[in-house]
Amino acid sequence: MTLMAQKYQKLIIGTNLLKRNRIMIKNLVIAGLLVVIAVLAFQRNDVSQQAQLPTAESAEDKVVVLSTFTVIADMVSEIGGDKIDSRSITKPGAEIHGYQPTPSDLVQAQDASIIFENGMNLELWTEKLRASLPDVPVVRVSDGVEVINISSDAYAGKPNPHAWMSPQQGLVYVENIRRELTNILPEHEVYFRERAEDYSARIQELDERLAATVADLPENNRALVTCEGAFSYLANDYGLDEIYLWATNSDKQGTPQQVARVIEEVNSRNIPAVFCESTVEPQLQSEVAAATEAELGGLLYVDSLSEADGPATSYINLLEHTTNIIVAGLTKS
Ligand SMILES: [Zn+2]
Repeated sequence: MTLMAQKYQKLIIGTNLLKRNRIMIKNLVIAGLLVVIAVLAFQRNDVSQQAQLPTAESAEDKVVVLSTFTVIADMVSEIGGDKIDSRSITKPGAEIHGYQPTPSDLVQAQDASIIFENGMNLELWTEKLRASLPDVPVVRVSDGVEVINISSDAYAGKPNPHAWMSPQQGLVYVENIRRELTNILPEHEVYFRERAEDYSARIQELDERLAATVADLPENNRALVTCEGAFSYLANDYGLDEIYLWATNSDKQGTPQQVARVIEEVNSRNIPAVFCESTVEPQLQSEVAAATEAELGGLLYVDSLSEADGPATSYINLLEHTTNIIVAGLTKS
């Protein structure tokens, strides 16, 4: 479980059992301790990561395929199987919108045959990689999706980048990845095609399961309240209204006006649960819960898979777990 997930768990317990009960002070102390722990853990990770950078021999000369974040890296490894070495630049739990590539990211990227990015303004930081490594192609995996635009805040009218949160749009990602891997390793064309077909069939089944799960929600509880507006595609597919604190993770997130607007909406619609995502500070959403009758629901996974011992270790698990958490929260009366 990531530190953010542990912290979220504490917030759920604190907010829902001790509503309006001086939890802010406690959380500040917890947050302070977690920052210290996180800094120590980061330093340790950084050292071990550098020590484990594979040499050409240990990677068995497999083609290195880099992805900007863990969700895409998982899709790539589903399709590429044992013919490639799929790696993610950002680690599980990392905030991916405002990430800054490190010197060791650049070293790792030198070995890559290709870098997959989501695009649609999600990872503007790949510009740094392009500039430093002009010979490594950076390919968008979202090309061809049915784009939903952001409807409010500073980014209104720009595409919402979180298209993978729709299984149907995820199929477009799969096809783009299959095509690019085949371009790099044409001798494995059949292998990639068979794996992509099998994977697509599993994503189709997932889509049907999720649609059936959400269909059971009562009409008056079909509102999904989150921190980031990262659920437009999922909400659109399964008929949920989307309400969020801020449109996209940025330095303009979590203003008092944004919080007040969501509190008003939750109160007026009597929404039973509000949620936050694994890569985002949940504090403001717990304030919404404290100021309303809503509970703080379980942690949602969107921009990152969980750690290996968490509930969202693959793209398919991420969608299934997140949808189940949403439905469980909104099913409470
Ligand atoms: Zn996001």
